[in-house]
Amino acid sequence: MIAEILCVGTELLMGQVLNTNAQFLARRLSGLGITLQHQSVVGDNEQRLRDAYKLALSRADVVITSGGLGPTVDDITKRVAAQLAGKELVLNPEAEAALRERFAAFHRDMPLNNLSQAMFTEDSILLPNPNGTAPGAIVPMGEGKVVIHLPGPPFELQPMFINHAEPWLQARSGKVLVSRYIRIFGMGESTVDELLQDLEQQSNPSLSPYCSIGEVQLRATACADTEQEAAAMLEPLIAEIRRRLGDVIYAVNDTDTGSLAQTTVELLKKHHLTVATAESLTGGMIAAAMVEVPGASEVVKGGFVTYQSVAKTMLLDVPAEMIDEYDVVSSQVAIAMAKGAREKLGVDIAVSATGLAGPGGGTEERPVGTVFLGLSDKNGTRAIPLHLTGNRERIRTLSMKNALNEVRKALLELEK
Ligand code: AMP
Ligand code: MG
Repeated sequence: MIAEILCVGTELLMGQVLNTNAQFLARRLSGLGITLQHQSVVGDNEQRLRDAYKLALSRADVVITSGGLGPTVDDITKRVAAQLAGKELVLNPEAEAALRERFAAFHRDMPLNNLSQAMFTEDSILLPNPNGTAPGAIVPMGEGKVVIHLPGPPFELQPMFINHAEPWLQARSGKVLVSRYIRIFGMGESTVDELLQDLEQQSNPSLSPYCSIGEVQLRATACADTEQEAAAMLEPLIAEIRRRLGDVIYAVNDTDTGSLAQTTVELLKKHHLTVATAESLTGGMIAAAMVEVPGASEVVKGGFVTYQSVAKTMLLDVPAEMIDEYDVVSSQVAIAMAKGAREKLGVDIAVSATGLAGPGGGTEERPVGTVFLGLSDKNGTRAIPLHLTGNRERIRTLSMKNALNEVRKALLELEK
């Protein structure tokens, strides 16, 4: 099935409104395994819209429009499509009732021209719009082709597409989609892209990356006649990605859930090992992330929030002289914190974090974003220096994720 996106509105053409609908629709279509070869924008002009429809229908099975479903004279998307199909727009009683109800609910009189929003060709399938007055529609255009009309405002278009157009498209494509979510930490998006470029260009299975703070996620989707077939298509792809990226992949899931903390806690459980934290700039974030995972109590013994130097000395036995000599943000202090936590709580693995989250306090020698993690396990204690960038929140979040990742790596090391 080939689809095409046709966005209607002079405001888009003139650059007054960013065409976010096209991006949204394109992403959703690729997720459905539907081929998209063209997208275009046309102003609110009858002749040019007609030409755009003709061209799109000449090369696509499904033409998805956005915009121009309003009650004013420049809202011509439906009428021009109906003319092309050689059909009349008639008042749809259900749509009319819904429209009248909506106006009544807002205690407003309905202007007569609003009735145009309830006019559809007789063979249209209506798409309900709980967020606005204009329903969408799936309109048969002959020769098995259809136009799908969606409203312009993104908060109306998005739920309508997801809830009403997607199920229709998926049923019609006769295919089953299966996805796997590959979660990556410790490799930038551009490096991932570079290593997987050829795989990202395939269409079935398709591979699409997206990012969050410090992480890259990949969604691999296969489209086939049966679920088993689609799942089988994903296996060699995922094996190849694992081969190319290695241990930076921390999870491969069937759903878009999961986190570094979850993987770390699961590994700790698997090895029956306990963990503790000694946190300065993260202020408890590392422990909190692990505790978010159900059943974490099996492996998370506890943690220390030692923010001021004096707390590091009192609770973790970090020598005050060491802090004076090397600075509180140093590999020595990170190591002493991790050791202290490991000994005090008698755990198998302890992780620590000390660093400068900013915005103030940076020096040339130790700029904002300088962070030292410490990791203590049966193989000894070591420091991991990080040079992070961004605002305070980002630096703290990245410190937390890096700390979890160091625990994960230490656990993988134990497996070897
Ligand atoms: P319309 O349904 O054509 O009256 O559009 C209503 C409003 O939806 C416009 O004024 C825009 O603010 C917004 N809109 C229309 N098309 C798009 C689009 N492709 N992307 C983002 N916003 C849009
Ligand atoms: Mg418009």
